[in-house]
Amino acid sequence: MIKDLAISEERLKEIQQHTETDTQLQKLKHVIQSGWPDIKSDVSHDIHIYFDIRDELTVQNGLIFKGERVIIPKTLRSDMIRRIHSSHIGVEGCLRRARESLYWPGLNSEVKDFILRCETCRTYERKQRKEPLISHEVPLRPWAKVGIDLMTFETRNYLITVDYFSNFWEIDYLENTLATTVIHKLRAQFARYGIPDTCFSDNGPQFNCVEFRNFAKEWDFSHETSSPYYPQSNGKVEHAVQTAKSLMRKGKHAQSDPFLAILDFRNTPTQGFETSPAQRLMNRRTKTLIPTKESLLKPKIEGQNVQKEIQYSKERQAHYYNQGAKELSSLKEGDVVRVEPANKYQKTWEKGTVNQKVNERSYEINIKGKTFRRNRRQLLKTSENNKTGEESNEFEDDEQFDHVEQQENCNNNTIPHQSPQQNTLDNNTTIRTRSGRQIKRPSKFNDFVN
Ligand SMILES: [Zn+2]
Repeated sequence: MIKDLAISEERLKEIQQHTETDTQLQKLKHVIQSGWPDIKSDVSHDIHIYFDIRDELTVQNGLIFKGERVIIPKTLRSDMIRRIHSSHIGVEGCLRRARESLYWPGLNSEVKDFILRCETCRTYERKQRKEPLISHEVPLRPWAKVGIDLMTFETRNYLITVDYFSNFWEIDYLENTLATTVIHKLRAQFARYGIPDTCFSDNGPQFNCVEFRNFAKEWDFSHETSSPYYPQSNGKVEHAVQTAKSLMRKGKHAQSDPFLAILDFRNTPTQGFETSPAQRLMNRRTKTLIPTKESLLKPKIEGQNVQKEIQYSKERQAHYYNQGAKELSSLKEGDVVRVEPANKYQKTWEKGTVNQKVNERSYEINIKGKTFRRNRRQLLKTSENNKTGEESNEFEDDEQFDHVEQQENCNNNTIPHQSPQQNTLDNNTTIRTRSGRQIKRPSKFNDFVN
């Protein structure tokens, strides 16, 4: 038997069996195989929803596909959602991931709903950053320019190596932070992906030393360092560090395998891109725990579109930056909220309820029996334990939920506010004219905001 999905026999059988016992899918299978009637009203009512996409539906090996996406039977859907969200990537990332290989009617809202209620994600909500954007020179091919930095997670040191073209990053545990240790890890990375033209780092002692200079000379790459006055110009690698930390923190909270989370992240199409970091670096998806059609795992040259997507991504980031400045909706008594950590040592967003509105911007919040006053910007409405069962709209348009993805732009770095480079913003990232008028968002964003 030819397998259409790149999964174990056991998992394949499970999906086949559940498809067989799903009455709706059996009706659908029958009509696909025997031919669709000409008009919708002649189709059995419970598969009406498939009528408009009937041309895309096929049956292979007892499974139903919509294009290259396998249709998941009802009884396995919640399990699939858990898999899609197992690494606690934001809602948009999970949706982009799911849409590549899975399908069922209502998938989008079910995934959104699940994530909105995810305790791990709500506990480690990330702060909304507002920093001006600058465009960054984009390398023309994978692994031509890499950024490196050290990070600490729970007293352990790691080396992060990120490719500027694909956004693919590697993480290495460091036994110590000596130059020789860092160089040893980098040699292994460069043996795997090739020697970059340029390697970018800060002025840390591991990088600003004779050993590293010799390494650069021997391996024939140029070593650039950030300006001591603008340490954040290494924004690309700092974003990778934040993403890595977020995945590790959430993984620890949920007691899941951090490497599976990294694998998931690498295969999640980047916001504004048709491709994932793995596809941009290796021209293929890599196999994960999500049932994926064999054909989707075959190598394919993806390079051509990337430049175009990078351009979109620039404009898109400007759009989100703009959107971040919008007014937040008013909260009412009893709303469940997550409260932004009060200082940088506290990482978790505490759950609380709204006692009362103090004024236009300020609320009194009850957290574990204590009362605090917080600005609206520090509060994020969630649907957790919401007795009224009411849904929050904030989810879809509040960028905080997709912070991880929004950092994943291939082209932009953030720089501090006071930077003189702010004046060199190109047109794509400028969001206000000199007169202060807001620039209208291009119509092409209509494809992204749904
Ligand atoms: Zn989560």
